[in-house]
Amino acid sequence: MIEKARLARALYLTARRTASGRYTVTGGMAPHEVTVDGERLTCGCADASLRAGVECKHALAVLLRRGNLDVLAALRELVPMPKRRRPRAGTKTTESRRCRREGAGGRA
Ligand SMILES: [Zn+2]
Repeated sequence: MIEKARLARALYLTARRTASGRYTVTGGMAPHEVTVDGERLTCGCADASLRAGVECKHALAVLLRRGNLDVLAALRELVPMPKRRRPRAGTKTTESRRCRREGAGGRA
């Protein structure tokens, strides 16, 4: 399970791969070692040992580093989609000018 508060803290950590399936996570109070064995991540921090079934921030930092799709989906809930900027009425954007020029050229 991915908790948003832990994921937010994981964004401020750095996971460095030290060997195959092994990462050192820094940026918190102390560095932590995280090992990856297939789908299973193991961290030696107190949070990981106390809360089975919940990924600690170190494990989440490793999953972020590895581009885990579930973690990236959870990240979207933390970061709102930027609103599209609409040009004000009467202002010509580069895009609209380009479209007009291509249209006038008569190319299909
Ligand atoms: Zn941990």
